[in-house]
Amino acid sequence: MRQMYQELGIDEPVYLLGKEVETALRKRWEEIDKTAEFNQLKVLSAMQKHRVSAECFMATNGYGYNDLGRDTLEAVYASCFQAEAALVRPQITCGTHALALALMSNLRPGDELLSPVGKPYDTLEEVIGIRPSKGSLAEYGVTYRQVDLLADGSFDYDKIKAAIHEKTKLVTIQRSKGYQSRPSLSVGQIKELIAFVKNIKPDVLVMVDNCYGEFVEEKEPSEVGADMTVGSLIKNPGGGLAPIGGYIVGKKECVEHAAFRLTSPGLGKEVGASLGVISSFYQGLFLAPTVTAGALKGAVFAANLYEKLGFPVVPNGTESRHDIIQAVTLNSPEGLIAFCKGIQAAAPVDSHVTPEPWDMPGYDSLVIMAAGAFVQGSSIELSADGPLRSPYTAFFQGGLTWYHAKLGILMSLQKLWEAGLVQL
Ligand SMILES: *Cc1c(COP(=O)(O)O)cnc(C)c1O
Repeated sequence: MRQMYQELGIDEPVYLLGKEVETALRKRWEEIDKTAEFNQLKVLSAMQKHRVSAECFMATNGYGYNDLGRDTLEAVYASCFQAEAALVRPQITCGTHALALALMSNLRPGDELLSPVGKPYDTLEEVIGIRPSKGSLAEYGVTYRQVDLLADGSFDYDKIKAAIHEKTKLVTIQRSKGYQSRPSLSVGQIKELIAFVKNIKPDVLVMVDNCYGEFVEEKEPSEVGADMTVGSLIKNPGGGLAPIGGYIVGKKECVEHAAFRLTSPGLGKEVGASLGVISSFYQGLFLAPTVTAGALKGAVFAANLYEKLGFPVVPNGTESRHDIIQAVTLNSPEGLIAFCKGIQAAAPVDSHVTPEPWDMPGYDSLVIMAAGAFVQGSSIELSADGPLRSPYTAFFQGGLTWYHAKLGILMSLQKLWEAGLVQL
């Protein structure tokens, strides 16, 4: 084994440290495997209930009327997330698109959107119009209000209560921390927050940005009161196989609104050919619980390895997990770049290229991204990225298998060590 790692470029001190860290994590692996087992049964049961069959995998084209595969998949998603309805489509191009769709279809001019969990994900700033953007909610007369989390990461209930008024129509809750250093929210915390806002205003809609959270716990936000739960298929629920797509699960009316916006008023869910990608949506969903477990092991391993070396990590080595993202603060631009180079060098695709910081659409500072993925930009595949701003935090996620995630993390450390940025 040591020789195999050596051939891939991992030197002995890095290998031995990795081995020591992994040995101490047996108990965590057991917990992660148990969650995966539970979620595997959940997915299987939904597929059986809706009689997934070979006919579901056939490609449709044109309008896509009576697309059995598409309609059955949406029923499977709805069951799996214990929701009334689902919209799961290759025509939803990414997570941002799915979130924008959910928001824009359920808000009307004069309504107000509230985020009680602080600043949303970078790309949502343009959707909402926090940063002026063509076609934003702000341009359509939807206002926005935000209540930040308290310093310890908990909800500021007094301010949230004060921020809800007669115009408040939709509350958006982001489960994962995204590019921030706040903790990610557990489904239990999300449940409490939903109950709190609905108690103040029963008819308010709650949307949860579920990106990176799917199958990390046994429950999803849709099971604890969210009216819409939204995410990307090139993250957890696509299992690495879905080549594109997004989903919205939740209340029938909310999902219908989204469908009428995605296609057209009058058409809604009835059109939208699946063009032959649908079988990968099924297979990906089937594999998603174990793929997510592998990614989760990678995140826990990275936290423990880098914590041991004195780097700030969020979550820390022992905390419970609510998404697959691991933040590691490298303290310098050189550190962040070396970390990303290591992740890239460990990839099955494009391991020979060097990641460089660039001005990525939707983000307000330079971003460096390492990804050697089969699906472009897929972040359930091993990837690391981070904005080039102080304190130079790498956000690391994914790995279709735990073994690949492990190699990537060891390689990141190898690059830091070679650059003289860490002592071993
Ligand atoms: C990835 C992500 C998004 C946006 O998804 P894209 O597919 O990159 O557009 C939104 N919110 C969170 C929390 C995310 O992690």
